[in-house]
Amino acid sequence: MGSTHFLFGMSAGLGVAAWQGWSPWQTGLSVVLASAVAGGRFSPDLDQSWIWRKVDKVTPDESLGHGGPMRHRGLTHWWGLPAVLVGVLPLLPEESRWLMMSLLAGWCSHLVGDFVFGKRAGRGRGPGIPLAPWWGHVGVGLDAGGTAEAATRSFVLPAVLCWQFLTLVGIGDPVNDLVLDLFR
Ligand SMILES: [Zn+2]
Repeated sequence: MGSTHFLFGMSAGLGVAAWQGWSPWQTGLSVVLASAVAGGRFSPDLDQSWIWRKVDKVTPDESLGHGGPMRHRGLTHWWGLPAVLVGVLPLLPEESRWLMMSLLAGWCSHLVGDFVFGKRAGRGRGPGIPLAPWWGHVGVGLDAGGTAEAATRSFVLPAVLCWQFLTLVGIGDPVNDLVLDLFR
């Protein structure tokens, strides 16, 4: 699932940059930042890092119920955290907002990825990501590591990234025409 998250984060970084009309260097940095928080230790999956697991072991957060906020796909995977940051965005200095937007794009891409590819697990955890802070999971429940994820990683996301890149550098029109022709 790691490289799928990474690719999806790149796509999210490119997407937010195109939407906002950022300069090429901002776009490049946005892709780097978004992919950095889309997968791995700086992503919502930081709840799988050894230090998090160690702290979780000695923290009685389970007493809060539903397996505790520190469980995997718990609080770090809750949509409410990025939602709060979206609310804070207007309070940030205008010239630094794009950095936060890039990080939010990457972080949220991870949540979307887990919403689609995330099976039901032990301790009563449902598929996907939590609707409530760390419980009430909802999601499509596809197998992370299954065929659909492999196809998304190997074909869908690379194709989307190519299309985004071509569109961004202004030579995407022939590709867009081709795709539109397919659906006509
Ligand atoms: Zn995750």
